[in-house]
Amino acid sequence: MKTYIVGNWKLNFSVGEASIYLHKLLKRVPNYRDVEVVVAPGALALQSLSLQIDRHKMKLAAQNAYYRDYGAYTGEVSFNQLRGLADYCIVGHSERRYIFREDDKMIQKKVEAAVRNKITPILCVGETESERAFGETADVIRDQVVGGLSEISEEDLDKVIIAYEPVWAISSTKSAKLASPDEIAEVVKLIRKILTDTYSAKVAEAVPILFGGSVNPSNAGAYLTVPGVNGLLIGGSSLILSEFADIIETAKRVKS
Ligand code: PEP
Repeated sequence: MKTYIVGNWKLNFSVGEASIYLHKLLKRVPNYRDVEVVVAPGALALQSLSLQIDRHKMKLAAQNAYYRDYGAYTGEVSFNQLRGLADYCIVGHSERRYIFREDDKMIQKKVEAAVRNKITPILCVGETESERAFGETADVIRDQVVGGLSEISEEDLDKVIIAYEPVWAISSTKSAKLASPDEIAEVVKLIRKILTDTYSAKVAEAVPILFGGSVNPSNAGAYLTVPGVNGLLIGGSSLILSEFADIIETAKRVKS
């Protein structure tokens, strides 16, 4: 399986700034066949960056989309409209869940719409600090994984990526803490078991599971060697070109 390095730019960079960043990143990063580099700019930049990007080197992701293909949904962008622009779409990021109140039902529809439109959803799951403190981590992860994938058949499971992002480890969370490799390994193992129980061991093994939460160049190597982790979803550090490029190089090194 490839290693995935995904940068989530969130609500940062103008269209022009995004283009300059991508230009520099394309110059800096070689074509690593076993590392899939993905950047997720704001929706407005997707059109122009899709013309600029070298798809042999890296791919584009949307940060969100709506599950209806078209209709009276003011302000939304559909997966259908993303076709040809983005290969991936982040779905169910904790900022969507907690700021924009997306529930598992909405997220499940988005995962289904992404797959239907041939865009790979990166389904984010993760417990909050209080859920962990109350011993609810396993239940929360189970609800989010089973809920998010409930419209996905066994044969489509290979079109999905899961990202484990404990909310308490995301750098923008107040008093964020670093997740330990053991904490991550335990939840990743649980996600794999949920997939095995819901589908089969064979398809469960093939689903890439990424980790996200305050990843930076100094901890990326340790996180990439956590058993079961197939890549990283990176927020803050992906906005700094030298740091993101470092993480990509670390992924290449760990892989070989
Ligand atoms: C994220 O929000 O998906 C994320 C992982 O952010 P950060 O790397 O800044 O913690």
